[in-house]
Amino acid sequence: MKILIATGNEHKFKEITAILPRQTQTGEHLEYVSLKDIGGLRLPEETGSTLQENAELKACFAAKETGLWTISDDTGLEVDFLNGRPGVHTARYAGEHADTADNNRKLLNELEGLFLGKRTARFRTIACLSDPQGKATCVEGVLDGFIGFGYRGENGFGYDPLFIVEGTTKTLADMTDQEKNAISHRAKAFANLSQELIKLA
Ligand code: IMP
Repeated sequence: MKILIATGNEHKFKEITAILPRQTQTGEHLEYVSLKDIGGLRLPEETGSTLQENAELKACFAAKETGLWTISDDTGLEVDFLNGRPGVHTARYAGEHADTADNNRKLLNELEGLFLGKRTARFRTIACLSDPQGKATCVEGVLDGFIGFGYRGENGFGYDPLFIVEGTTKTLADMTDQEKNAISHRAKAFANLSQELIKLA
């Protein structure tokens, strides 16, 4: 059975397929293909007001367009002091044309002067699996932590250098890919989605 992973990001495709199962519980082989493998497809704008709406929007659209079972995800950073912001706006927190440095700077500025106990936050990933008719099942994965006082670590991407993982002294950017993938919000969401995939005929 062929399953489309609706992301244009090859790094994400590799990270996700390393987690997902190779066969269903009845022994059917599961083959994962990327948007590139199917010759490309323009995904809709992320116009939803929640992570789940956005993940579903992309998965259901691509499933109906291609006739394939399709997986999509959306991730947000939720900061308690900011009442859950940036949340669904995580990618474009500092504006439509802002880059990672702008987003990180804005976050540090908004939390200026707060002690660590007030800097609690979490990454949340919603992963959805849509059938070819556009009916989706969604699961989530969460990673708790704190927003640090500055940048630390060289690895990862996005907000990783600011995000101190709960129960450790490391930011996500201090971790190797292997360490991050063992605990991350995305890894947890896709481990949960694996339980849905193995139930496919
Ligand atoms: P996406 O839904 O995976 O595209 O993620 C939306 C935004 O969340 C990205 O543009 C990043 O800024 C941020 N983000 C997602 N996952 C991570 C992560 O694992 N570490 C740091 N930032 C992330």
